[in-house]
Amino acid sequence: MNLNDPISSIKGIGSKKADVLKSMGIETIEDFFYVYPRDYQDRRELKKVNELLDGSVSLVKGKIVLKVKNGSPYSRKQTLKVLVTDETGGMEVVFFNPKFIVNRLEMDAEYVFYGRVSIEFGKIKMIHPEFVKSGANNTQGIIPIYPLKAGISQSEMQKWQHIAAGLLEELKEPLTKAIIDKNNLCDIQYAIRHIHRPQDKNTLKAAKYRLIFDELLFLQIGLFSIKNKVLSNQAGICFDKNVQEKIFMEQLPYTLTGAQQRVIAEIMRDMESEKGMNRLVQGDVGSGKTAIAEIALYKAVKSGFQGVMMAPTELLAKQHFEGFVHEFDKHGITVGFLSGSMSAKEKHQTLEKLAEGSIDILVGTHALIQPNVVFKNLGLVITDEQHRFGVNQRNLLAEKGQTPDILIMTATPIPRTLAVILYGDLDISVIDELPPGRQQIITRAAESSGREKAYAFIRNEIENGRQAYVVAPLISESESLENVISAEELYQELKKKFNTIEVSLLHGEMKQAEKDEIMTRFYNNEIKILVSTVVIEVGINVPNATIMLIENAERFGLAQLHQLRGRVGRGKHQSYCLLISNGKNPIAKERIHTMVSTSDGFIIAEKDLELRGPGEFFGTKQHGLPDLKLADLVKHAKILHRAREEAKTILEEDPQISLSEHACLREKTLKLFSEESILSI
Ligand code: ADP
Ligand code: MG
Repeated sequence: MNLNDPISSIKGIGSKKADVLKSMGIETIEDFFYVYPRDYQDRRELKKVNELLDGSVSLVKGKIVLKVKNGSPYSRKQTLKVLVTDETGGMEVVFFNPKFIVNRLEMDAEYVFYGRVSIEFGKIKMIHPEFVKSGANNTQGIIPIYPLKAGISQSEMQKWQHIAAGLLEELKEPLTKAIIDKNNLCDIQYAIRHIHRPQDKNTLKAAKYRLIFDELLFLQIGLFSIKNKVLSNQAGICFDKNVQEKIFMEQLPYTLTGAQQRVIAEIMRDMESEKGMNRLVQGDVGSGKTAIAEIALYKAVKSGFQGVMMAPTELLAKQHFEGFVHEFDKHGITVGFLSGSMSAKEKHQTLEKLAEGSIDILVGTHALIQPNVVFKNLGLVITDEQHRFGVNQRNLLAEKGQTPDILIMTATPIPRTLAVILYGDLDISVIDELPPGRQQIITRAAESSGREKAYAFIRNEIENGRQAYVVAPLISESESLENVISAEELYQELKKKFNTIEVSLLHGEMKQAEKDEIMTRFYNNEIKILVSTVVIEVGINVPNATIMLIENAERFGLAQLHQLRGRVGRGKHQSYCLLISNGKNPIAKERIHTMVSTSDGFIIAEKDLELRGPGEFFGTKQHGLPDLKLADLVKHAKILHRAREEAKTILEEDPQISLSEHACLREKTLKLFSEESILSI
């Protein structure tokens, strides 16, 4: 057997177990190395019976002197009581439903038990401890506890890990000696050995440090490579200095805020210079990012180029499209739309016009990155709500032009420290001001007992001509969790309760046409209450809606709650966000408290980061970053810094990571970013 062999070559791993392991990312024997323990049990210290403390989790060795079975053998209530003694005293070990255990425990034999001790009236007990025969291998020391999935037991995982560990000598070292020495790292074999079976705290610490360093190094190499790929062709487009974006701005129904004007000036400077633009615009929900995109697109088109804007959802793309048609029509600029749900014929027509240049601006979903989407002369690429796209999707879009300028817009305020990591050397603009006349959204938290009052309030607002969103965490009862309301249930309930008022349901599994129709009717004020799941989270703009009621608010993350709240308060009317929750979870409570006490997206983002940790904050799906197993971008900022410096050095020396001494490094980096072909090959 060797490390590259499939796991099925281990005896006892059949196709069923192999499938489960595969879903955990384990396909070869080597992959076992990278499934790190989620916890460790300290089984180093063997206690005597008379040293056991009530409530402690302890390891004891003793001889079985008595076995008593209680209850009928056919009943589930059967118990097995075993008296275990050592030279200092005796303890009772209890097993419920002991069918498989009875015969594993032999009279007069010695076993090592590991479990929680309870002492009642002087009687020492252990309920359902783990046990092994005294003298067995690998039972004492610091024992790894692995994450599992259904179909695999802890002891199986431990056994396979042990088998894999036997091949550790074969594992190749991805780092050069110079890097290892310079950064005081242990070698990879040592790191893998001790992350699984540490001798003590110090060996575990050294192992973790090394593995965290590796993860961050591969991450940085990957991110730098992606960036270099885009930036390699330094000379960008010089957009026409004589284009008067003022003309467009004057046609807008409002005056731009100071912050918008500042950001636009930054963008115009980038666009007019010959250096390619790579700019991130961060602006809270409602800060007016769309107008900024429009002005940049205007500049691009009037300079003779095409522009493209990609949005993460169809609804949002559609809304941008409609808004653009409205604004650009008066300037003789044509706007096209592209999404996966269009008919082949519609798509074909759009693509044809795009290729011949009779569409100036194309708006759409990630359908835009398909290879058959060909522009005549693409000069500006904008992605809205960037954190939803993979790092690579943006680049695929950019490759459709000749070094187009790139603008990335995000409504999730990213704490500056992290933005720098995530976006490397991108320039960052912040819209730190909301358009005038926006009232603070009044946010209130209530328990479910407050629901009736909330409904009465909604009714009142609707009678005054307004509209409401009601959001639930799940679509239907089938996914049902205890005490969690589904959108469907809620919809049925509200339809009854508000009988003469038009209530509709919207969720992500509906057909696109249906969703569009409902959104349009809500926009036109035909629907008064829109019950939905988080599909409305991103970017939807209905200024007449003034209430956002969120059910089971404890089930949403802070960023999500903030996004949802941003759906109201978009017009001239006072708006409200009502958070109904039942959770007793302190983190959930703190999230809700944060929502009630601030509306500043940056404060919320910092808080979110603090509560969730960056692992989740940067969850792969949200931010397009690969999953990190051990590294924490904030906690390990210092290691990150060193890894970053090393990554830079490596790439300077070997831009394509093609030197033979880097072969293993390259493989690891590619693996971290999985399917994405990040390194320019
Ligand atoms: P977001 O930054 O969340 O994408 P939008 O661009 O959708 O925000 O803008 C939110 C709302 O504010 C829209 O209705 C838009 O027309 C309006 N708006 C944008 N800029 C201004 C401004 N300077 N003054 C008044 N309203 C504005
Ligand atoms: Mg927006």
